[in-house]
Amino acid sequence: MYFFNIVSIHSIELPKEKKGSYVWPIVGADAITGTFGEYRSSHFHMGMDFSTNGRRGLPVVSVSKGKIVQVQRYWNSIGNAVIVLNDDGIYTRYGHLSRFNKELDKHLRSSTISALYKKRKDFTYNLSTPIDVQAGETIAFSGDTGIGPPHLHLELYKDGIYYNPKDFGLGHEEGEEVVLESITLKPETSRTFINGKNEDLSIKLIKADGGYVLDPIVETILLQGIVSIQVSGYQKSKSSRLGLQSISLLLNQRKILDLSFLSLPKTDTKKFVLVYDSFKSKSNGQPFLYNLFSRDSYGSNQLSRIVSGNGMISSGSLDKDKPNLVSILANGLGGNQSDLIFPILKDAGDYSHIKTLDMSFNVKFNQYTNLSSDDHKIELFFPTNAIFTRGNFQIDEITNHNWEFPGLHLESKIFKISPENFREFNLGYDIYVKLSQKSDMSKAGLYEIKPDGRAIAVKKASYSNWGRFFKARLKKTGTFAVLSDLTAPSLSLVNDYKNGHIFSNSNFEIEWKMKDLGSGFDQNSILIKIDGEIATAEINPHTGSAIVVEPERVFEPGKHRMEATAIDRAGNMSESIIFEYTVAGGKLASTNNEIDKNLTASRPISSKQEKVKKQ
Ligand SMILES: [Zn+2]
Repeated sequence: MYFFNIVSIHSIELPKEKKGSYVWPIVGADAITGTFGEYRSSHFHMGMDFSTNGRRGLPVVSVSKGKIVQVQRYWNSIGNAVIVLNDDGIYTRYGHLSRFNKELDKHLRSSTISALYKKRKDFTYNLSTPIDVQAGETIAFSGDTGIGPPHLHLELYKDGIYYNPKDFGLGHEEGEEVVLESITLKPETSRTFINGKNEDLSIKLIKADGGYVLDPIVETILLQGIVSIQVSGYQKSKSSRLGLQSISLLLNQRKILDLSFLSLPKTDTKKFVLVYDSFKSKSNGQPFLYNLFSRDSYGSNQLSRIVSGNGMISSGSLDKDKPNLVSILANGLGGNQSDLIFPILKDAGDYSHIKTLDMSFNVKFNQYTNLSSDDHKIELFFPTNAIFTRGNFQIDEITNHNWEFPGLHLESKIFKISPENFREFNLGYDIYVKLSQKSDMSKAGLYEIKPDGRAIAVKKASYSNWGRFFKARLKKTGTFAVLSDLTAPSLSLVNDYKNGHIFSNSNFEIEWKMKDLGSGFDQNSILIKIDGEIATAEINPHTGSAIVVEPERVFEPGKHRMEATAIDRAGNMSESIIFEYTVAGGKLASTNNEIDKNLTASRPISSKQEKVKKQ
């Protein structure tokens, strides 16, 4: 059970300047393909996307009278971009441009960044002399530089706050029907029961006269405890699904939460998990799943305006004598709105016989938070900015399996961290897993257990022994266990060369095959010496093959000795295998030549040598 101090959040006021007067920024295309505040896989969409009908080269015009003050090029994001400071004080950034107008191009060629510009490298350039532009004047041409197909990305910002272009007259009339697809009711405590179960309840929505209704299969919703609501929806448009502009949640006609995409501070770009269920949302709007509640006790979310409580509905506040009406009002561009109204009944049932898991939940910014398993053998650390939501995250022990782990010994319980492949916690950070073990942990490691029972070692590079603790970094959830590897790997020569083999010259390669039942191999898994000196080998940890290629080394004619040892990730060492061979001087006998051809035919030496040289 928990309660948050809900900080009252006020929407940021728009600048005083007159709105609704900007000019459409692209000539020859008239559709919007992405709205402000939409879900993207790692951030909010901070601007609006305009269709270019899939074309490069359409004129991009300034939305307002102003000055071109900056030009950017970032191949991994915005591509070519122009920044105009409008006379009203708002900056407009136009992105993904194929090229700039003539005057700007000329300016850049004679500027201090002309070399970067001509070489098509990344840069940010502040114009030494800003170029005046009129509203509607061509500043550049549409393109697909940076990320995505040809389109125009437009942003409006001032003093670190990004604004919704719809409020400046862009896209008011774009967008058709607002579609509501489904709602999900989520128990917020371990003793919350929705229709008698401590589980999420998802309900499909059906279009009806003037709005949406619940799929009639679900006749009633009974509630005991505290529930939060998510809604999945979008707005139809000419070519795509658009994010919604605002959503309100009401209980018995009293508004309890407003979510409005008006403005967003740049510092909140990555706080999308406060608004979207990022586990289920897709950036193409299939679907956008909006949280109609706030777990944001830090006031980090500038989009939700809490009207009452935190948007969650408690059965304690429900009328017990009649249905309580929940309304969701969703707005798109152009003033289009759809609504959903459904009843919730207060449930007075006795569920004391039902055992529920006490799940944890946190939203914490700028601090570590941790979660421990019941036996304290596994502990998860969620670093700075980590976010995860209650009901979406839990650790369960897996007992009903018949997995065997060949070559490995199970040291811990098998833990399933749900949901699998959860990325909601991960805003560009890893979680840390700390394991505590009393036994000798020197051969132990953290393993991911695949659904078929295969144990895959979490890369050694990402964990370290830490006293009697053991720390591992995970980039995703899944099923994990601590296993120790006490089995030595084995090593053999591919093609079964016989000792005494003769090579025509010193440019040859030898392939070794490594086998390991346990922790497997990494790039440092083989130690090869030729005549006592360490030789280089290319290792494929997946196939367990190691190919010795020594193009730089010249071997004297005569006998040589190669010694190889395989080492698995846990440090277990194979027996050393010795391979003796002869490098021939002068002409070779035909039989030897034949063997040499067989050796080289399977793997062209030339390409291998090139590969090595490049490294
Ligand atoms: Zn965009």
